[in-house]
Amino acid sequence: MLLSVEDVHKTYDTADGPFAVLRGVDLTLAAGETLALTGESGSGKSTLLHLIGGLDTPDQGKIVLTGQDIAALDDAGRAALRRGMVGVVFQQFNLIPSLSVADNIAFQARLAGQHDPAWDAALADRMGLTVHLSKYPEQLSGGQQQRVAIARTLAPRPRLVLADEPTGNLDEGTAATVMDLMLELVAETGAGLLMVTHSAALAGRMSRRLHLRAGQVA
Ligand code: ADP
Ligand code: MG
Repeated sequence: MLLSVEDVHKTYDTADGPFAVLRGVDLTLAAGETLALTGESGSGKSTLLHLIGGLDTPDQGKIVLTGQDIAALDDAGRAALRRGMVGVVFQQFNLIPSLSVADNIAFQARLAGQHDPAWDAALADRMGLTVHLSKYPEQLSGGQQQRVAIARTLAPRPRLVLADEPTGNLDEGTAATVMDLMLELVAETGAGLLMVTHSAALAGRMSRRLHLRAGQVA
């Protein structure tokens, strides 16, 4: 199994006292599978993605990535795992403004020591970015910026891709194009995809769907 989440709990301390967002979440994801995660705003979808991506730690429970319990790792170990194995796409494109499109695409792969110029070029080509490689993010449209962000995420060949409403900032037509490209490329790489979405249509294109409610998945 690529990913296994077992009885994960997360409580935030708030001004009104402790708030239990996740109350025993279980899910699994196999390589090549695509899983849609839906749920009302505030139901804990982003929190769960952050925990799986090793950006935060659960209070209780296990997150096992290719057999490795990420809670058992220290910060450096989690960072290494994240760089080498997990790719994340957010709603905000989070490109580095001072770097060209080409250098943005290569950025995470270089950090992970997995820079493959031929694969970068193939990704840029598939994303329709070849003519934009020497431009800077501010010179691109939102849809183009998100295609750069997705290419950057896929460049290190992650085995697990986490996407948090990746097309939430794009108009409907642009979102559909970007999503088609992302799903095609994820399928070709054989990665597993866990995607948070508000869109029933998008969720319908995933191989499985889970709904987060009252801190648990159904
Ligand atoms: P979703 O992505 O489903 O909209 P989130 O995971 O972002 O939900 O947030 C779930 C709940 O936890 C929300 O009520 C949010 O306000 C709260 N929350 C998220 N992050 C924090 C934090 N760092 N500290 C306190 N509360 C938080
Ligand atoms: Mg969210």
